[in-house]
Amino acid sequence: MRLRLGILVVTFVAAVAGQDGKVQLPAVFDPAAIDTTADPCVDFYQYACGTWLAKNPIPPDRPEWGRSDGLEERNLAILREILEKAAVKSPKRSPIEQQIGDYYAACMDEAAIEKKGIEPIKPELDRIAALADRNALAEEVARLQRDGVNALFTFSSQQDFKNADAMIAVADQGGLGLPERDYYIKDDQKSVETRQKYVEHVTKMFQLLGDSEERAAARAQAVMSIETALARGSLDVTSRRDPAKIYHKTRREELVASLDPSFGWPQFLADVNAPPIESLNVAVPEFFKALDSLINTTSLEDWKTYLTWHLVNAHSPVLSKAFVDENFDFYGKYLTGAQELRPRWKRCVSFADGDLGEALGQKYVERVFGAEGKERTLQLVHTIEGALGKDIMALDWMSPATKQKAIEKLHAVTNKIGYPDKWRDYSSVKIVRNDALGNSERATEFEFQRELNKIGRPVDHTEWGMTPPTVDAYYDAQLNDINFPAGILEPPFFDKSADDAENLGAIGAVIGHELTHGFDDEGRQFDAKGNLRDWWTARDASEFEKRAGCLVDEYSSFKAVDDVKLNGKLTLGENTADSGGLRLAYMALMADLADKTMPKTDGFTAEQRFFLSYAQSWCTNESDEILRLSALTDPHSPAKFRVNGVVENMPEFQKTFGCHVGQAMVRKPACRVW
Ligand SMILES: [Zn+2]
Repeated sequence: MRLRLGILVVTFVAAVAGQDGKVQLPAVFDPAAIDTTADPCVDFYQYACGTWLAKNPIPPDRPEWGRSDGLEERNLAILREILEKAAVKSPKRSPIEQQIGDYYAACMDEAAIEKKGIEPIKPELDRIAALADRNALAEEVARLQRDGVNALFTFSSQQDFKNADAMIAVADQGGLGLPERDYYIKDDQKSVETRQKYVEHVTKMFQLLGDSEERAAARAQAVMSIETALARGSLDVTSRRDPAKIYHKTRREELVASLDPSFGWPQFLADVNAPPIESLNVAVPEFFKALDSLINTTSLEDWKTYLTWHLVNAHSPVLSKAFVDENFDFYGKYLTGAQELRPRWKRCVSFADGDLGEALGQKYVERVFGAEGKERTLQLVHTIEGALGKDIMALDWMSPATKQKAIEKLHAVTNKIGYPDKWRDYSSVKIVRNDALGNSERATEFEFQRELNKIGRPVDHTEWGMTPPTVDAYYDAQLNDINFPAGILEPPFFDKSADDAENLGAIGAVIGHELTHGFDDEGRQFDAKGNLRDWWTARDASEFEKRAGCLVDEYSSFKAVDDVKLNGKLTLGENTADSGGLRLAYMALMADLADKTMPKTDGFTAEQRFFLSYAQSWCTNESDEILRLSALTDPHSPAKFRVNGVVENMPEFQKTFGCHVGQAMVRKPACRVW
């Protein structure tokens, strides 16, 4: 339920800004970004962003470049300064500085990494090659999963959908190298081409491991055949948005003895080091049935090939240059449209953020986030929560009974701002200055075990799913909390020197977005405590669905790129949150304006600057490739539709800019859920 992109492949961050922590941040509202030749009532996104878009092409090492990416750049530069300082050997370093500093130093030591070649993964390659029979598969899969390898399926913990106080184990579909199930199934020309490119990529990886071209090509076909069978048992991304489709509480015995008897679950559960399990969520039973028959029909040799591929795929970003480049060529260049690999320091900063994020994040927070930032954000959150309360009470289609439950849920939302109260303790993770890959493996294993240790224990409500420097935000339906990392509480989202009209248009809409997620088509199925429980009257639910259906139709009509249209069902939750978010922020602005006057600035009224600030937080140039990938896999709509798709339904916007019926930004009849 995140605000922005969260896809399978690595995302790439830009190289245009300076290399110190003094990268200039974009303003919340910038009149110079406007294209004055465009008509706000015909294409508001072009009007608000046009000049900026023309002047800011995508840097070669990125698939996209938006105004908010300047903030991401600034955060990266700050993290780099922290890491470089921590990397200098000194007896005065704190234990945390030693860990993050040595991690970064090892990652930056390209010469040492180059010299080692495939040596760091050699023991694992040998172990896979020596697998004696299919019974050994479960043991090896457990070991690989602990190392962060995407082998066959995923295994972790989660809050029980039907009992939010309990942490249970979850086994879910996985084991694919392409971004989504449908990539293996669809037979349009582009899908066929992508599969061909993927097979070529896997072939090249086997060649880098020492295979002849012929043998490598045959092995790539074996990988493709196994993954296609796994894909056929998997659910597509759109279906996975329905919680009921990914919740199947199953007794351990049933999984072991009848659902998937061929895999060797007792061995796996012991070797993966899971606490004792009586029952677990087998999220997609069909997947494990498919796996069961696949185990019996696939040769041992092909299993070895499959596991070898996923081992090298998982580790290639920290291996020698040939592996890094080949990995980038497929996942970066072909799939997302980035033209160049990011500079090494940026990759290493991102890896440190991924592996030791709450250690590095402590240092980040010390530098950039004060009590004042937390206080003002909290005030904004309370204002927006108040607006949602009024909005719910004023709905003409919802019964008093459902309204009461909705208000209960709203009041139960926890606000988490900036960073966790309690930091994750990585002191048991061994970080060594000359072992980049080992560091990453040990950090991954620590995280894997940390997740498994939760099984059977009380739910930790203080935990965060994003690190402090992240320029993003999220709502968690099971914890019923909204989370705003320190990284996003900066321009162009929030500026203490900007007035409320601008801050409400940007960060206010983000806060409203996350809050609305609690009440979108997915979030509304969870109650105030985070249980998957229907608290709606049948009539109210059907009224909701009618309104949501309007948004599905609206966004399904938008074209992402070439012949690819948006998937209105996949993006429904995000589009609902976008439109609810901006409406709530607007209500907060109206309440504000009732108390005080906000003067025209740069020739624009407070209302105009509100809508412009919203649109400008989204100004983004996107490659055709990333538009295609996102349309197929990402629940968020492209930037243009996050702006136009929202405002064309808002009479408040149309009044502000004097738009009239017949113009593109006036949709009739308008969609409105919240
Ligand atoms: Zn969202």
